[in-house]
Amino acid sequence: MRKNIVAGNWKMNTTLQEGIALAEEVNEALAGRKANCDVVICVPFTHLASIAAKINQEKLGLGAENCADHEKGAYTGEVSAPMVASTGATYVILGHSERRQYYGETAETLRAKVALALENKLTPIFCIGEVLEERENNKHFDVVKAQIEEGLFNLSAEDFGKIILAYEPVWAIGTGKTATADQAEEIHAFIRKTVAEKYGQEVADNTSILYGGSCKPSNAKELFAKPDVDGGLIGGAALKCADFMGIVDAF
Ligand code: PEP
Repeated sequence: MRKNIVAGNWKMNTTLQEGIALAEEVNEALAGRKANCDVVICVPFTHLASIAAKINQEKLGLGAENCADHEKGAYTGEVSAPMVASTGATYVILGHSERRQYYGETAETLRAKVALALENKLTPIFCIGEVLEERENNKHFDVVKAQIEEGLFNLSAEDFGKIILAYEPVWAIGTGKTATADQAEEIHAFIRKTVAEKYGQEVADNTSILYGGSCKPSNAKELFAKPDVDGGLIGGAALKCADFMGIVDAF
């Protein structure tokens, strides 16, 4: 059966020293708890190797926030999936709305990134979600379906089974505006149905679908109580250990 997961997305925050200190604090907090979910932190590339050396990855998974759509070569400034894997990280966020919006990521580049992540044994946390205008025009189901179809439905059922999905309505990211638990459940159930139609009910039932967008300790419990919400991808609240743990404890 699918896993419950709370994953932090630190984005472009913390210096290396601050990041190590935060990771150690989270690691310590988890050592003294029995979390009822998997816990992951996705951190800047520059922090990966140092943090990998400091945490117990049996209790706290480590991931990158992106990887390149090429394996190696003349792509100045890019960081490849094999490079990420060589740090000891085992997850990678792909297709975050900030990357789609500010860095022009397309379904084609995302398919290449997913393939390289899987080849390098990284678990993709694949983000999907609509902008406000699309929700207001009742287009969110179509948008999310197209993002999944175009980004992931080239995969075999076996490879799709390695993907974690994160539904993140763009209007809720970093805005303090959270989708209601009912709104989240409605679209998560739709996403699961979309996966079932392509790969069958068993694959769909085994797929973890995280909610992201202004998730915090005060709303996590209600969101996670919904049957198709299998955890959260957490931005701002992942930068404070107490808040992050408050969300972990919602399970
Ligand atoms: C995110 O960017 O993945 C996110 C969910 O951010 P926030 O929690 O800050 O809305």
